Amino acid sequence: MHHLGTLAVLGFFLIACAPQPQRRGASLQSHSPEIISIVDDLKIQSFVTMEGRRILEVTDNRDQNREYRFYLAQFKNPNWIGAAAGSHVIYVQIKAARNAYLNRQVFLPGLRRILAHEIAHDLLNHPKNRNNSAAEELEADRLGIILWKRLGWDCSYWIQQYETKQKKGITSTLYPTELQLRQARSLCPEAEERKRDDLKKELLEADLLHKTPGLERHLIPR
Ligand SMILES: [Zn+2]
Repeated sequence: MHHLGTLAVLGFFLIACAPQPQRRGASLQSHSPEIISIVDDLKIQSFVTMEGRRILEVTDNRDQNREYRFYLAQFKNPNWIGAAAGSHVIYVQIKAARNAYLNRQVFLPGLRRILAHEIAHDLLNHPKNRNNSAAEELEADRLGIILWKRLGWDCSYWIQQYETKQKKGITSTLYPTELQLRQARSLCPEAEERKRDDLKKELLEADLLHKTPGLERHLIPR
């Protein structure tokens, strides 16, 4: 980035789920025009770091686990949820991190998806390139989902996210929902199988109800 002189090379690439910022030297706050502020909340930052390191443990970079730094950021663009700045620096939107910290049941998968995706960008060396591309976004998703599976996390979450996006008609050149969804489905076939099994079960049950009116009366209060 401009203000860091020679360090600029390391700095600032539009990576991640949004163009990206970076650090090294100077204070974090001065690093990227894309970040309004770095939020100091040690409890939440430790929580995010622990989750990030859990993912790193199943990567080829596990030896460098301690070198990774996770920061809570307020991005200028409220749609940005994370960013990989290169040099093992990951930013996570404070709101997503706080939500996960306060309500793990509901929001932890969302945080884990951000972390896996951004860590994947870092592992794939994407921050070195100056431009984000759809190919890189898909690649980061791909590795992110693979990391989730290594950890035994339910990859159907990714599919649900993209199905929701698709239903809302949200897509872009950089984040092509249709391709993201297709890739997630192919990497996570167990989710599709489970869905088919559930449907089959439902149909069988419906068939059973149809054939046994007595049962139907019994199950469905009139
Ligand atoms: Zn990304």
